[in-house]
Amino acid sequence: METEMNLQPQPHVLLFPFPVQGHIKPMLTLAQLLCHSGIHVTFVNTEHNHLLLTQREALSARFPTLHFHSISDGLPSDHPRSLNPYFIDIVTSLRSKTGPLLHQLLVSLTSKTDVDSAADQLPPLSCVITDGLMCFAIDAADKVGIQVIAVRTSSACSVWCYLCVPKLIEEGQAPFGDEESDKMVLGVPGMEYILRRRDLPSICRAPTNHTVRQFFVEEHIAITRASGLILNTFDELESSVLSHIASKFPKIYAIGPLHALLQSRVGDDDLSSSSAAAASLRREDRRCMMWLDSQEAGSVIFVSYGSLVKLTRVQLLEFWHGLVNSGSPFLWVIRSDVLHSTEVEHANRVTPVELEMGTKERGFIVDWAPQEEVLAHEAVGGFLTHSGWNSTLQAIWAGVPMLCWPQLADQQVNSRWVGEVWKIGVDMKDTCDRATVETMIKALMHGEEREVISRAVDQYAKSARTSVGEAGSSYHNLETLISDLRTLVI
Ligand code: UDP
Repeated sequence: METEMNLQPQPHVLLFPFPVQGHIKPMLTLAQLLCHSGIHVTFVNTEHNHLLLTQREALSARFPTLHFHSISDGLPSDHPRSLNPYFIDIVTSLRSKTGPLLHQLLVSLTSKTDVDSAADQLPPLSCVITDGLMCFAIDAADKVGIQVIAVRTSSACSVWCYLCVPKLIEEGQAPFGDEESDKMVLGVPGMEYILRRRDLPSICRAPTNHTVRQFFVEEHIAITRASGLILNTFDELESSVLSHIASKFPKIYAIGPLHALLQSRVGDDDLSSSSAAAASLRREDRRCMMWLDSQEAGSVIFVSYGSLVKLTRVQLLEFWHGLVNSGSPFLWVIRSDVLHSTEVEHANRVTPVELEMGTKERGFIVDWAPQEEVLAHEAVGGFLTHSGWNSTLQAIWAGVPMLCWPQLADQQVNSRWVGEVWKIGVDMKDTCDRATVETMIKALMHGEEREVISRAVDQYAKSARTSVGEAGSSYHNLETLISDLRTLVI
């Protein structure tokens, strides 16, 4: 059987992630999963991000059918490429400049014209797996006559909300002003009595730039032209929402948590952390692991806002006071670019002495952490998170209760699910004053609710393990994806 499969021509699939950390990482994990089953993958990054992925050669050595390729994002080399506030610049350039380049690449890969010398052995391209925020890839693939499967790296609950946004706009439920934030949302089937307007994706908030909202609406209309949708979630976590999304796509593949599925399929415990590092666009500061070793089990609150969220200096100080006053030891990721650019000039202002003292006693600050390993460390007892989907899934996998402070995109939806549906954390949406931060950290780490929350998150961690195990849903769904890709071989 094995030999027979090896003799058959292997599919060749192109993976095309949206050019930010939270999309590249899960898609690179998917690439490794496909390569592990013998499929050829051409992984296309923007030139800028291609250079930041410094461990490409090591990954290709481990997965010989993994090929990297880069393509221009059309922006000048000195462009900051920060989504906030350059989102529209970036997506406009991707659509108008990268789109035609992608088409050229597809022409050359489908017609077997080698794009580089290492591609000698590559079979012709049979499918494009594109990030669902770059649906121009569907047009490009249509022109060369190959199928497209889309990936959304967000939760199913947020994807379903995004798919319903046009209807919410039509019904006047979005955009909404501050005074309407607590009204219940009625237009998202299956989510009645769960969602308040403030829990909708951030594009539904009135001050959001209209062109950003328009972009998301367009992409979520275009995405339904894909022949399937891959989601980094698992059936047991989001089954009812998945069934709603299934009404919009011929096929749905829920194959998460991807990082855990990779570990399960390849059977190498070290793989997950080394492949996480290999997918990182920033250098991890591993000193924090030694600091964690010196802390008591379950005592540390880990704080991270992901790769994109920006803060004002006032917000940063409120968090800092709250963290110090909570009395819990804390590991805090403060990216070098975490402050809004307009605030940077104030960043070197003198820090209050009590904060310096409190941090020296109980805190550890890094620019970027090996997050998956941090969450798995026994010293970590809570996660103050921006509720990015990768972070949320990683916390579920590690069984760590969350305190959510969502800011952008799908984060508002994710945090509502964490707090109200799964009950594996608490939602601190739309506030971060020092007293609230202190009280909520204390409640999460030591309050009455902690036991209930811990039990719930442990339960989901267990079902995540089942889902990536051999008889599990994500394992099975990946098998289906792989066999569907095999039917597309030209
Ligand atoms: N991450 C990390 N180290 C950090 C902070 C974040 O490795 O110090 C990783 C995290 O594990 C996750 C990704 O960056 O894989 C962030 O993705 P997420 O979807 O949570 O948020 P985004 O950055 O897209 O807002």
